Amino acid sequence: MHEVSLLLNVAELVRETIEGTDIAHVDEVVLEIGDLTGVIPAFMIDGYSYISDEYEFLKGSELIINQIKSRGICSDCGMEFAIVENEGICPSCGSVSKTVLSGQEFVIKEIRIKE
Ligand SMILES: [Zn+2]
Repeated sequence: MHEVSLLLNVAELVRETIEGTDIAHVDEVVLEIGDLTGVIPAFMIDGYSYISDEYEFLKGSELIINQIKSRGICSDCGMEFAIVENEGICPSCGSVSKTVLSGQEFVIKEIRIKE
């Protein structure tokens, strides 16, 4: 499953981030995921409960996903529009030619530690 390998990457990134600090355990990991990535947040959350158990520093932590809506600018008429909602087609002129502004994100936005 695609989401599992993504989650393993996330775990490795968290490990790298806290390595060399005095942080031994994190409580929340916040991801920003664009809707053009095709990643399904519900699958990520499901998989996380298993993955997080495999890592001492993630045990019992929570995954929070902020989904970023994709936006693009039509190359023909210049209108900015939501890509996924419009199935990639400019709602103003019907063109499929566009510049993608957002929606391809896959980043760890924040790692939270509760006191
Ligand atoms: Zn257009």
